[in-house]
Amino acid sequence: MTEINHAERAHAVLSASGASRWMACTPSAALEKDIPDQTSVFAEEGTAAHELSEIFLMYEIGDIAKATRTRRVNKFKKENEFYSQEMEDYVLQYVDVVVEKINEAKARSEDAVILLEQRLDFSNWVPEGFGTGDVVIISDGLLEVIDLKYGKGVAVSAVDNPQLKLYGVGAYSQYEMLYDIDSVSMTIVQPRLDSISTETLLATDLVVWADNEVQPKAELAWEGEGDFVPGEHCRFCKIRSTCRARADENLAMAKYDFAEPEEIAADPQLGLNEIGKILFQADELKKWAEDIKKYALDQSEKHGKKIDGWKLVEGRSNRRYADEEKVLEKLTGNYDEDAIAPRKLKGITAMEKTIGKSQFNNLLADLVVKPSGKPTLVPETDKRPELNSTASAQADFE
Ligand code: SF4
Repeated sequence: MTEINHAERAHAVLSASGASRWMACTPSAALEKDIPDQTSVFAEEGTAAHELSEIFLMYEIGDIAKATRTRRVNKFKKENEFYSQEMEDYVLQYVDVVVEKINEAKARSEDAVILLEQRLDFSNWVPEGFGTGDVVIISDGLLEVIDLKYGKGVAVSAVDNPQLKLYGVGAYSQYEMLYDIDSVSMTIVQPRLDSISTETLLATDLVVWADNEVQPKAELAWEGEGDFVPGEHCRFCKIRSTCRARADENLAMAKYDFAEPEEIAADPQLGLNEIGKILFQADELKKWAEDIKKYALDQSEKHGKKIDGWKLVEGRSNRRYADEEKVLEKLTGNYDEDAIAPRKLKGITAMEKTIGKSQFNNLLADLVVKPSGKPTLVPETDKRPELNSTASAQADFE
């Protein structure tokens, strides 16, 4: 079996991972098309986790022998800068979920089919549309697509997730002639957030969605037509910093005009209902302002462009030792060692990384406390239970 280069998984113009964006804002894909992908350390780390998981999964499904798995894992440990015991622990959690699903599938049908890193073609609905399914399992009546997300920034749900639905409908259209498939189940495993979410749909419903929702939007997106629609989905758009529609939307928000009745508008102070509305906009405004700042700095620093009214200067910096060992050499003997270089225990995340998550839990679970978080205002839709504000004020006071 050939090894797959995960970092070079090709990207379609109308990619599954960008579907929530090009379906909401159809002209975005054509504008993004010629802008190169910017790789990030998080993306590279995700690629590494996929590579490692594939080695373990290939063994689990009998594609490679135990000795080959050990050799490949050892090679990975030696050569991949992102490897840590913590990564291996998280990857194995994901592998456990997949193995459980494989066993369930085999219990349903002995000849269940398991495919790793499968190219899934959904070009029946999206021009040149394809993606890569980490794991596809086909058993009696059920096709499953499982996706590993190694990030820990934002929890991604599989429910009504266009990326997973496109993988699902693509897999279904590829295999429906060969197998009896009634339902398609789509799962996202995010081990670092301890999150597994699944959505199961009737295959016919998935096709209706692709016919009615996806195809018309994909046609517009392919032609670069339709309306610019700013929203949450702008977050990873490649033109998010210079997009006029997003700027217009944010500048209009910043003007704060909620068309209040006259008696409210005449009050010199904002009411709590108005503050509530502004809070909803504040996060989006902040993100937009940060994107603009980052873009302007990049243009100025890396491309030598002049931003009207602004100049590039050296930022403030803090003093630091040029050579810590030499500093120690000079001071040792004259001063108490603990006073000049106190030994410090590694932080929790760094320690988990060093000794591995399971070992950390075995040895130190009793010695870790989680103090209550600082009260935070979040929209009512947030899943966390509401704090009793008087009790919280009392706790602060104590
Ligand atoms: S930034 Fe938002 S509104 Fe602008 S093109 Fe991208 S997705 Fe559309």
